[in-house]
Amino acid sequence: MVERFHLVMGSMHERVERCGVDGEYHRVDHDGNHVRKREMHISLIVNIDFDVISDEDDDVVLALSSTKSTSTLLILYPKSSLASQRHPIQFKAPSLTFSRCDAMQLSLCLSKPAQHLKNPIMAASGSGSIMWFRKGLRIHDNPALDYASKGSDFVYPVFVIDPHYMEPDPKAFSPGSRLAGLNRIRFLLESLVDLDTSLKKLGSRLLILKGEPGQVLIRCLKEWGVKKLCFEYDTDPHYQALDIRVKEYASAAGIEVFSPVSHTLFNPADIIQRNGGKPPLTYQSFLKLAGQPSWASSPLLTSISSLPPVGDVGSCEISEVPTIKDLGYGDIEQEWIPFRGGESEALKRLKESISDKEWVANFEKPKGNPSAFVKPATTVLSPYLKFGCLSSRYFYQCLQDVYKNVQKHTSPPVSLAGQLLWRDFFYTVAFGTPNFDRMEGNKLCKQIPWNDDDELLAAWREARTGYPWIDAIMVQLRKWGWMHHLARHSVACFLTRGDLFLHWERGRDVFERLLIDSDWAINNGNWLWLSCSSFFYQYNRIYSPISFGKKYDPNGDYIRHFLPVLKDMPKEYIYEPWTAPPGIQRKAKCIIGRDYPKPVVYHDSASKECKRKLAEAYALNQKLNGQLSQEDLDNLRRKLEQDEDIEPKIRRQRQKVGHLT
Ligand SMILES: Cc1cc2nc3c(=O)[nH]c(=O)nc-3n(C[C@H](O)[C@H](O)[C@H](O)COP(=O)(O)OP(=O)(O)OC[C@H]3O[C@@H](n4cnc5c(N)ncnc54)[C@H](O)[C@@H]3O)c2cc1C
Repeated sequence: MVERFHLVMGSMHERVERCGVDGEYHRVDHDGNHVRKREMHISLIVNIDFDVISDEDDDVVLALSSTKSTSTLLILYPKSSLASQRHPIQFKAPSLTFSRCDAMQLSLCLSKPAQHLKNPIMAASGSGSIMWFRKGLRIHDNPALDYASKGSDFVYPVFVIDPHYMEPDPKAFSPGSRLAGLNRIRFLLESLVDLDTSLKKLGSRLLILKGEPGQVLIRCLKEWGVKKLCFEYDTDPHYQALDIRVKEYASAAGIEVFSPVSHTLFNPADIIQRNGGKPPLTYQSFLKLAGQPSWASSPLLTSISSLPPVGDVGSCEISEVPTIKDLGYGDIEQEWIPFRGGESEALKRLKESISDKEWVANFEKPKGNPSAFVKPATTVLSPYLKFGCLSSRYFYQCLQDVYKNVQKHTSPPVSLAGQLLWRDFFYTVAFGTPNFDRMEGNKLCKQIPWNDDDELLAAWREARTGYPWIDAIMVQLRKWGWMHHLARHSVACFLTRGDLFLHWERGRDVFERLLIDSDWAINNGNWLWLSCSSFFYQYNRIYSPISFGKKYDPNGDYIRHFLPVLKDMPKEYIYEPWTAPPGIQRKAKCIIGRDYPKPVVYHDSASKECKRKLAEAYALNQKLNGQLSQEDLDNLRRKLEQDEDIEPKIRRQRQKVGHLT
């Protein structure tokens, strides 16, 4: 087997171990000259994984990495850099080809004159690029990474840990930071570790920095003297604002910015432009405007064979990918969840999904069992798409390959490719709609006088509604951060137009925090949809919190799994345990009102009330052409409450929110 070797001075590998292997190696003195040390045979070296040898003077460390990948790195760096955690400049020597079994001495490799090794300053001022990872945590189909590496002597692959996103917020309603639940943070860290591993195999590594991302990036641009800044374009408002700042600095400093659209199948701005400056508001009109993706005519770049080394990082503090503990979460006990972050896992999952061609060809949403949790009914690729561990374009390309090889397949909107198009649809509408994530000031959103009730909201969020189907879904959300699409429908409908009549923005916030696939455009789009605030207006069609789940899972296995307090409840009562006679409750060791709450509302009357309120709100929206002021909304709310007073029977049926003792 033939392997290529590079001499690299600088980059530090993790998991290095000291080892007393005898042999020849070289150190580089202050003038950049090689100083030959003891003998070491190449056959010995290539069998060593991440070994470190220090010389007698203890001032040079030689780290050897021999991985199963096609390139092997030989790394020399001053030992002092270990202590200071700084990364000296790297030099890439001319690559040489060896046979693994040749007992060739390492000196042969090093004795080849490497001009730039002799002149570190010149090497340091070679052209460098920053590859700024945010989402797009992958190697495959990553045009920004590809561009960063083209014609560059150095590439700095950077990820900035934003404390607001990562560090603990003790005031939040669940473990996690101010902005994200712990499951999503863990998923992100796993994705970063995986990315770092992949980069190392390519001769690079991930540089983790910490701080406010804009400030950190600008500092790196100042210190590293790079010529290019590359990052994936992002339509989320958070990144739009951040990117303006960073781009402004880069342009003023004469740094080229390359920011391609590769998170979605289409460029939302192109679609909006084709539609006369407005986003298409229906899926079908979106499809018509979108047509075939322009990139689909040629195969995507799915692999990279090597990357330029990382350059001198100067005084910027670089760390390894932190653990949950490093971030300040202590030894928090973490639930096992079946989805592990990272590109490797994403590609494995994708491969498994598309290997069943018949399943792909017949995929039809919304058919599918929302209560299937051992083997979910859909791909569970959403968290990987969210962080860009999986390219949606690559996913789409793989699906087209399957479709070409089967006789018949489903089509959008119900097909699997159709799901990716839903994703793009919401990205496009969200990008082109001011205040998309709010009711106020959002032209697409019906103005509805939702109730404000913290107790009911907490009961829903904490799985205490007394409806086992709803509560089990909310437990799955909290534990796994992922639920089936129809399960999301059920709880979103229940919170808003189905039963509790609470604001969709409150539910959106809970999902935004707890979902591992939490995605600004898709989450807001679906909450608008489910609350009948936009896109979908048939408010008379309500998901029953009792019969809907029962249709798929009459035995209630899903409920028993996520709500073990009900595990011994007979199947006749599992969806309505409050109807179980006291003797049955005792036998099931679950007394309703003590071990598990009574329903917070009665569905029949509550859903009727919701429909009545929505009918009135819709009528007023129509009358005022959607231009409702706050006063109009307050007046309508008062009127609806008065009408409710006229129906005391319904009000009496509203239960005290159940708290478990
Ligand atoms: C109230 C509510 C909130 C939601 N919030 C999110 C969210 O924050 N992030 C998120 O990714 N999805 C969200 N969805 C959409 C959908 O439920 C998930 O994308 C899907 O369940 C993910 O599972 P999957 O990967 O197995 O999907 P699959 O059915 O295998 O679909 C493949 C991919 O298509 C995309 N997709 C599927 N359904 C939709 C949809 N309705 N809208 C847009 N894209 C879709 C996703 O990227 C998904 O990974 C939400 C749905 C509802 C009802």
